[in-house]
Amino acid sequence: MTVQAAEEYVLGVLPKLGVNKRRELVRLVYEIAKRDGAPFSEILPAQKNLNFESAKKQLLARRYPVNFKTAAKDRFYLPKLELSPALQADLTPRPFYPKTVYIETSVQDSELAARVRAAFPNAQFKETDGKTQVGSPNFSRRLDTLLIHREKYDFLKPCPCSCAAACCGYNLINLGFGCRFECEYCFLQQYQNLHAVLLPANLDEFLNKIDGASFRKGPFDRPRIGSGEFTDSLVFDDLTRYSQKLVPFFRARPQLQFEFKTKSVNIGGLLEAGGCENVVVSWSVNSAKITDTAEHFTPGLSARLAAACEVARAGYRLGFHFDPVVIYDGWQQDYARTVEQMADTLPKDKVAWISVGTLRFSRELKKMIENRFPQNTILDGEFLLDFDGKMRYGDSQRKEVYQFLLPLLRKVFPHTHVYLCMEDPRLVQSF
Ligand code: SF4
Repeated sequence: MTVQAAEEYVLGVLPKLGVNKRRELVRLVYEIAKRDGAPFSEILPAQKNLNFESAKKQLLARRYPVNFKTAAKDRFYLPKLELSPALQADLTPRPFYPKTVYIETSVQDSELAARVRAAFPNAQFKETDGKTQVGSPNFSRRLDTLLIHREKYDFLKPCPCSCAAACCGYNLINLGFGCRFECEYCFLQQYQNLHAVLLPANLDEFLNKIDGASFRKGPFDRPRIGSGEFTDSLVFDDLTRYSQKLVPFFRARPQLQFEFKTKSVNIGGLLEAGGCENVVVSWSVNSAKITDTAEHFTPGLSARLAAACEVARAGYRLGFHFDPVVIYDGWQQDYARTVEQMADTLPKDKVAWISVGTLRFSRELKKMIENRFPQNTILDGEFLLDFDGKMRYGDSQRKEVYQFLLPLLRKVFPHTHVYLCMEDPRLVQSF
């Protein structure tokens, strides 16, 4: 099935449509055919009095069976469907080994630069003044380039969350940009404009900014600072060894808590640094189906939970993020199985917090996902334009997820703070 075939089919059934109307029907026909595996002729049969309005109505009803009758019509987002094979993600497994490593002049003698030189002897090394643009024009080639730099601005900031969503008071420390995993929903695909992996060599300068800074704490007992916004917090830790500085730093500041957010099992540095009560190591968790099909190159749930048990034994506390929860046939059983596996495996008294959030994305990210992962199933759900301009499942479907997962998690982890992430404040209040 191709976009061109969908275009030709719609043109054949309704030859007199203008460009914009045809564009909407092509998208609907294509998305339904992809989701249902049905031929176009069954989705939009040629009928005698078929016109744009009747065709769109029947296609919307089939594409959005839960929301068609209740959602305002401007919440269905139907942009032109454009798929470019050149943008597809490369899902061939390979180790992280950049072809070119740029090191900024001011950090040439840093510990990180030395480690990188030793780790990638066959890479081409170049010195940069930090002003020249590096990296590939194609996001899928980002791992070819590594930039070791001195971060000058983006040390600490409040979590940008989503402009109108309920805020949990999170604070961010920006330890890197770019990731070697390929999660189909990752916002970096659309957000990252420098297609390379960036790692700052001046961690001490970051830490110097923390003392004296004021932090929000939201509904938690102490301010939370985390590092997993623009990269996975641990995926490069064997290279960066940031954990070796972060853990002792926060051990000496028990009034704060620091969170590593990861899907990796790269915990050697943490074990070496020794445990720490106010350092929380958090794993993103999901149903096995989503982990296996949409989080490419990441370790599976069992491996993540085994790593969590190890760091808990070393003295760290744990966090988990059910994010993004994806709705599909049978999601309840699959997510319940994940909770069951967590309950059977984890030391419950060590789990500090668990967040839950359903899949959401910007309009631009939707286009990126369908280009990079044309076979994805995560976009098959019913996503509507929402209160903050993002696309989300409708209110009733999100409520269903929260009504299912929150009581279950609170029952299994009665001493854990379970909360919603990036949600409509009205919805948050009801949970
Ligand atoms: S682990 Fe996080 S940062 Fe890495 S690809 Fe997945 S979502 Fe993106």
